Amino acid sequence: MITGRTNVFGIMGDPVEHSLSPPMHNAAFKKLGMDSVYVPFHVKKGEIGAAIQGALAMGIKGLNLTIPHKTSVMEHLDELDHAAELIGAVNTVKFNNGAKGYNTDGRGAVRAIEEVTPVKNKKVVILGAGGAARAVSFQILLEGAGEVVIANRTVEKAKALRNDLVSNLDANVKSSDLDLEVIGEIQDADILINTTPIGMYPNIDDEPLVSADVMHENLVVNDIVYNPFETGLLKEAKKAGARVVPGTKMLIYQGVEAFKIWTGVEAPVDVFEKALMKELGLGEEL
Ligand code: NAP
Repeated sequence: MITGRTNVFGIMGDPVEHSLSPPMHNAAFKKLGMDSVYVPFHVKKGEIGAAIQGALAMGIKGLNLTIPHKTSVMEHLDELDHAAELIGAVNTVKFNNGAKGYNTDGRGAVRAIEEVTPVKNKKVVILGAGGAARAVSFQILLEGAGEVVIANRTVEKAKALRNDLVSNLDANVKSSDLDLEVIGEIQDADILINTTPIGMYPNIDDEPLVSADVMHENLVVNDIVYNPFETGLLKEAKKAGARVVPGTKMLIYQGVEAFKIWTGVEAPVDVFEKALMKELGLGEEL
């Protein structure tokens, strides 16, 4: 029951009505018997500064940010976590005598992959060079990946992200196209991550960027697209005998990491997963 003592958390976005975060966090609060609630807030572009001030004034304990606020929120915060500062985007804010911004997207992807294989010293090929690729590439290097290749349709954008990674982390990073160059890189890679929207509902029959004949059985393939549960790329990976990590895992772990930042508690991953799968109509995949 919500009372005067209930702690309030939430997500700000536009649109926000289809957000999958409220069911995951509320299921965890319920399971752990915590007097807390997580609500969606429809905040339009340009209103994020006022919304953050309002949240602080109202005693809201923590927020997630989604499109279009992940970058614009930064100037309204008092402090930034190191990874969020490097990535240049914030998806989580903790209010505690001020507002501190974090980015749990990259950490979510790393934890998802580490359910299957450690990332330390591994060679990682990332398809795409947008916001998600930026979060994942910075975080995976911060967590010890040995080499990262950024492969993108617009090669200039891959080069720009590569240069940012190298200048901030002094890391082993290459840029590549999505044709012959990337095929060569995948041959001796350990981990392949798709961060492009290819294959996402309703375009589920889009041809994946990489086919089975280019993959190998020692590869771990993660598609961060989570709808459908098994994308075209993951089907190809299975054909090649590679191990797969579905996009739902990143979504679950970015939430679990935010929950920990706000409450200090490691949320039950199975509760997050069950709530998400139910919301996606995928209960039978567990
Ligand atoms: P973004 O910033 O717009 O970047 C999109 C990237 O995909 C760009 O590198 C773009 O290449 C590439 N791309 C788009 N269409 C392409 C095509 N037809 N062929 C080749 N490359 C193409 O988007 P984002 O924020 O990074 O998000 C990307 C995807 O990740 C979305 O589907 C999103 O739903 C998903 N996502 C999932 C999670 C999760 O928790 N599972 C979290 C965040 C995002 P160019 O540079 O050439 O345009």
